[in-house]
Amino acid sequence: MNNASAFIRRDRVTRVLTEDGNFRAAIVNATATALTGQKNHKLDVYSGYFLAQGLAVVAALASFLKGEERISLQFDGNGAIRSMFVESLQVGETRGYIRPADYADKRAIGIPASAGLGTGTLKVSKILYNRYEPVTGIVPMYPESIAQTMAGYLANSEQIPSAVSIDVALGDDGSTVFAGAMITQAMPGANADDIHTVEEAIATMPRLSELARSGTQADEILRLALGRNFKTVGSSPVDFFCRCSVERFKTMLMAAGYDEIQSMRKQKQNELVCQYCNKHYYLSERDFAELLTLLKAQEN
Ligand SMILES: [Zn+2]
Repeated sequence: MNNASAFIRRDRVTRVLTEDGNFRAAIVNATATALTGQKNHKLDVYSGYFLAQGLAVVAALASFLKGEERISLQFDGNGAIRSMFVESLQVGETRGYIRPADYADKRAIGIPASAGLGTGTLKVSKILYNRYEPVTGIVPMYPESIAQTMAGYLANSEQIPSAVSIDVALGDDGSTVFAGAMITQAMPGANADDIHTVEEAIATMPRLSELARSGTQADEILRLALGRNFKTVGSSPVDFFCRCSVERFKTMLMAAGYDEIQSMRKQKQNELVCQYCNKHYYLSERDFAELLTLLKAQEN
C-alpha cells in the first residue's frame, strides 16, 4: 500500500493524546463502512448521506472506549430523517440503520452541506465494563448538523469541550466517495487560549475529504488540528459489521412462545430480518422443529 494515501485507502480510526496532555483526538475514515451500510440497507443518496455521517462519528466516539465497550446514538427528529441508530464497538465493529422522512421527491430537496435532522432528540448510550447498566444521556438535536449536535452533547452532558468535524463527500453520481470524522477534546489541563487555538485551526482547515484526496495522512491532519506533538494511543480497522446470526434470532424467538412459533411455521413466516444490518435469515423446517421441541421441553 502506498503510505501517502493510507488514510483514504483503508477504513481506520486513530486515537491520539498530545504530549502536553491537554488534548485527545480521534480521526476516522469510514468510507467503506458507509458504503457497505448503504448497500445493505439499499439506501438512496439522501438517506445514505446521513447514515454515512452517523457511522463515521460513532466510530470516532467509540475509539475513546475500551475493548468490547460500545456506544450507540439514537437520533429522533422531524427533519430530513425520522430516526437514525448507529452503534460502534471500540474494536471497530460499526452498524446502523436509518428511517428517512417520506418526502415525495427527495431529489428536489437536495443535500445542503450542513443538512441536519431538524429538531428532536439524540439519545447516547454507552455499555461500559465497570457499569451494570448502560450509561445514557438525552440531549436536544441542533437542527444545523449532526456534528453540532455531537459537540453539544459532549460539552453539556460529558462536560468535555469538543470540536466535532464530520465530512461526507459525494461523487457526481451521488455515491459516497469519502466519509470521515474527527473529534478533538480538551483535557482538564487545557486553558481557554489553547482551546481557542485548536478551534481556530479546525475551523480554517480544508475539509477532511479534500485532505484525504490529496493524500494527507491521518497523523498530518491531526497535527494541523492540534498544532502540537502527540502520541498515538490506539488504532483499529473499522468495518460495517453486525453480530447477528440465525442462532441469535432463534434465542430471541424463544420468548415468543410455542403457539406463536407454531403459527409462524404454519403460515410459512420464516423470514427474519436484522434491523441493524438488513441481513435476511430464513428458518428451515429443522429450525422450527428444534425451537418447538425446546419450548415443549420447557413447558413440561
Ligand atoms: Zn445484523
